[in-house]
Amino acid sequence: MNTTINYNALFSTIAHEVETTLSPGKVADYIPELSKVNPDKFGVYLTALNQTHFEFGDANEKFSIQSISKVLALVLAYKIEGENLWNRVGVEPSETPFNSFVQLENNNGIPRNPLINSGALVISDILVSHLKNPKKDFLTFVRSLSNNKKLNYSSRIAESEKATSFRNAALINLMKSFGNIKNDIHVVMDFYFYLCSLEITCKELSEIFLFLANYGENPFTKERIISTSKSKRINAIMQLCGFYDEAGEFSFKVGLPGKSGVGGGIVAIHPGKYSIAVWSPELNKKGNSKKGFKFLELFTTETQASIF
Ligand code: GLU
Repeated sequence: MNTTINYNALFSTIAHEVETTLSPGKVADYIPELSKVNPDKFGVYLTALNQTHFEFGDANEKFSIQSISKVLALVLAYKIEGENLWNRVGVEPSETPFNSFVQLENNNGIPRNPLINSGALVISDILVSHLKNPKKDFLTFVRSLSNNKKLNYSSRIAESEKATSFRNAALINLMKSFGNIKNDIHVVMDFYFYLCSLEITCKELSEIFLFLANYGENPFTKERIISTSKSKRINAIMQLCGFYDEAGEFSFKVGLPGKSGVGGGIVAIHPGKYSIAVWSPELNKKGNSKKGFKFLELFTTETQASIF
């Protein structure tokens, strides 16, 4: 970290600018329970590899991380399945919305990447095949990366999503028809909804993702989570595919690998330096946190530090 910068002061200046200049976005409501969140929440937490940290606002409040958990599911599936994983899912940006069908039919049921819904459903299928008790084992994995051993799913949010899961049901049925889903679709969807429902704070999220800034090793416990090469690849996928059909824009303006979720969270990684999590529930038209995106753009611009 640049020791001449007062990060706490910078966070508050940028947050003020973001709050006062942006028009409101829209909280996700296609999952009914998500629409109940207070749209004005705003939190940021940065954990650096040298163990310093900086925060602003609602950084210690739990929120639904939604698609951000797709990265953690991918890490676990990649650990288990190795390079065979790429026979079932691609690594190309999608350029279409997170729940889109158009490319899936053309690509014979092979999703473009693991960070859109179809891709994460295939990853969920792989984990269901390998884990004895998928929900419990996945939670154990996430807790092992966190300093909070109590973090948990929200069954309220998972069940709300299940009740309105028409598009995800259609995606998984299409992939099943192509032979790219091996297990019972209801079992896979149930697991997928639970992993999306994880509730985590900005502080915890930035700590959990820090191993990806540390080339695959957990900096707190020194445990190797994945190899350096696999860590590189996960970051590359986040860079290219982490923001739905706005991944190019995020790369262009922020210049860090990251992942967003429709709960309004974004996590971004600066390899060798830090992991930062931002949460603001109002989304832009592409489904990314409006204020979170702008905050990170101003942050990498002001600090003049990105991966490029
Ligand atoms: N659970 C959400 C869904 O499947 C995740 C969407 C997201 O955050 O991108 O629609």
